[in-house]
Amino acid sequence: MPTWRLPSICLIIVLCLAAQSPVAQAGSGSVHLTLGNPSNAQTDVNQPLNYLIDRPQYALSYNRDQGTPNWVSWHLAAADLGTAARSNSFTADTSLPAGWYQVKTGDYTNSGYDRGHMCPSADRTATDADNQATFILTNILPQAPDNNQGPWVKLETYARDLVGQGQELYILSGGAGISMTIASGKVTVPVDTWKALLALPEGADDLARINTATHIVAVRMPNRNGIRSAAWESFRVTVDSLEATTGYDLFSAVPAKVQAILESRLDAATSVMSLTVTAGVTQTAGALTAFAVPLQLQALDAGGQPVAGAVITFAALGDTASGFFPGGYFTATVMTDAGGLATAPILIANATPGPFTVEASTAGYFAPAVFDLTVLPGDLSYVYLPLMARQ
Ligand code: MN
Ligand code: MN
Repeated sequence: MPTWRLPSICLIIVLCLAAQSPVAQAGSGSVHLTLGNPSNAQTDVNQPLNYLIDRPQYALSYNRDQGTPNWVSWHLAAADLGTAARSNSFTADTSLPAGWYQVKTGDYTNSGYDRGHMCPSADRTATDADNQATFILTNILPQAPDNNQGPWVKLETYARDLVGQGQELYILSGGAGISMTIASGKVTVPVDTWKALLALPEGADDLARINTATHIVAVRMPNRNGIRSAAWESFRVTVDSLEATTGYDLFSAVPAKVQAILESRLDAATSVMSLTVTAGVTQTAGALTAFAVPLQLQALDAGGQPVAGAVITFAALGDTASGFFPGGYFTATVMTDAGGLATAPILIANATPGPFTVEASTAGYFAPAVFDLTVLPGDLSYVYLPLMARQ
């Protein structure tokens, strides 16, 4: 390793040499599993605790012994929102394998808990059949009224507002932990409810359009009364923390490097800004030489003013199929200065010659700054850009 010095405490370099996790297997073909199947659920009677139910309206993993879904996953776009009336007719799931208990609406009566939709009724109003499907009790878990009718429904409304602004969403939700049971033990009440959503501008080929700047929101809310007036935003967490809590791999079909950035980031959608490349956009470096110009961008707010103190993540996205960054990749986290400028170093160990992309992004920003760099053939044990003193 070359010797190098940190010019500022604001600048942290992470050189990740961990092995890449394998790409998650594709879903069933359902649009609702485009971004992955978080627990590898299968429609297999021998997997009663992780049983895939794949409907036109949503997909879910059902837990027979808890009487609730482990997770429900659904795509939400403008075409899902119409004028169908709310069914309000909760029905047992008669599609379950023979001999499995079918939770019925009376199991919730007088329990103190709402019949809480995971895929909401109001997300499926294109047809009466779509709306009715959300009332099937495998899409339902016991939610405390102040959770369900408080911050939870506010987040559901926020999601539909994004659709109204031209976005399409992939949403996952479920319960975590066990606080008690109702219906003589047939239905388990979770300690918390959680949700993660990923939003893209409405378009085609969604998986390919996800990048390190894609908007992700995740929350975990206590499943109890007393939080009715709380803002949903006060329950934001990272996707990584939801994954640690639940043991599921959310958004598993997204490339691992992009997941690593997005899932460690808290949403900050209210601080939307633009990132403008100011230096280093396209460069080539040869054997044991450095890229000549540091990667630099400027963060500007909606009024065009520089944003100081924005945390920018630069991520080198190699093409693992052709062997760039074997065994690892780098990210650099840099804070913008008073002029809104962020300057990033590059340190690539054992690079394979060829082109690669660095994406720079920050929470609450919906398109990355992109740098295209090329490593030329030669003796490339290390290719590095000396760290630049910040102005
Ligand atoms: Mn609800
Ligand atoms: Mn994940």
